Amino acid sequence: MKSLEYFKGCLIGGAVGDALGAPIEFMSLDQIKSSFGNEGLTNYSEAYGRIGSITDDTQMTLFTAEGLILSKVRQGYQGDAGIISAVYHALLRWLYTQETGRQEHLIKAYGTCSIIDGVLTGHKELFSLRAPGNSCLSALQSGKLGTIDNPINDSKGCGGVMRMAPVGLMYDDAEKAFRIGCECAALTHGHPTGYLASGAFASILSRLISGETLTTAIDDSISILKCNTNNEETLRSIDTALELADKAIPGPDIIAGIGEGWIAEEALGIGIYCSLVAGDNFKKGLLLAVNHSGDSDSTGSITGNLLGALYGIDVIPENWILNLELKSLIEETAVDLFDQIK
Ligand SMILES: [Mg+2]
Repeated sequence: MKSLEYFKGCLIGGAVGDALGAPIEFMSLDQIKSSFGNEGLTNYSEAYGRIGSITDDTQMTLFTAEGLILSKVRQGYQGDAGIISAVYHALLRWLYTQETGRQEHLIKAYGTCSIIDGVLTGHKELFSLRAPGNSCLSALQSGKLGTIDNPINDSKGCGGVMRMAPVGLMYDDAEKAFRIGCECAALTHGHPTGYLASGAFASILSRLISGETLTTAIDDSISILKCNTNNEETLRSIDTALELADKAIPGPDIIAGIGEGWIAEEALGIGIYCSLVAGDNFKKGLLLAVNHSGDSDSTGSITGNLLGALYGIDVIPENWILNLELKSLIEETAVDLFDQIK
């Protein structure tokens, strides 16, 4: 297994990508160019009242990590079902940060302990709406625990895949990372592609943090995916990313050939494509990942997770780390994950 620097690289890298994409999440490529010049965005720009703002992608990644960590240290969360239950309760705490006005309702619906437990809810900066996804909100508001066998909805938005990094870091068995990743995503995304792309992303990160190359990690993930039904969309997007990385000169027009990233398989495909063509040039990969007419913060986040897990925190530009919102909390979360498995 790799060192702590790669765990930090994965979570900080993802948050940096999220922060880079935040100001341009809802902008077309033409709008980005007219605002920032022909090269597009090249540095942090203000979003949510400051530069370096994280969004829901990083918030939910942190809460997923908290659930996984609690599942390791508490007797009450045993086995795979216990892991999913711990993550579910952590995501309910994230919902609480988004709906402080509904505190009484949540406590009544779910019980006090599960809602206000954990350490993240002690950070007031997390009590902030950063364009949370509708599928995540409505699934968690329903009071029902979504599973693969009992889908909560038919959503395949990228809200599952974009929060999967901690699952890949926690489990060095890629098949377990895939399985837990799928179930964690199915809490909010019931379409097969919504959770299979998430499991695939977790399994790729699991292989990377074990020291595999990116191409081997992707190949292993494809092998696992092929054992699952309804895998066609996810496999097709990964294949498209691999083909384009081999042939074309990188640019937003190539990314458009994979999609815009609002849905799970496209977000994963774009993240894989940008990581493959970036090599160890983190800045190049991340600017490519956010400058397109799509879900820039999520594709930035996924690419940052991958490149950080591959090359470690040292490849991330210092000023991007320095100006990142909640960087200490994100680093501490990486340390806590690392401590659970070292
Ligand atoms: Mg976001």
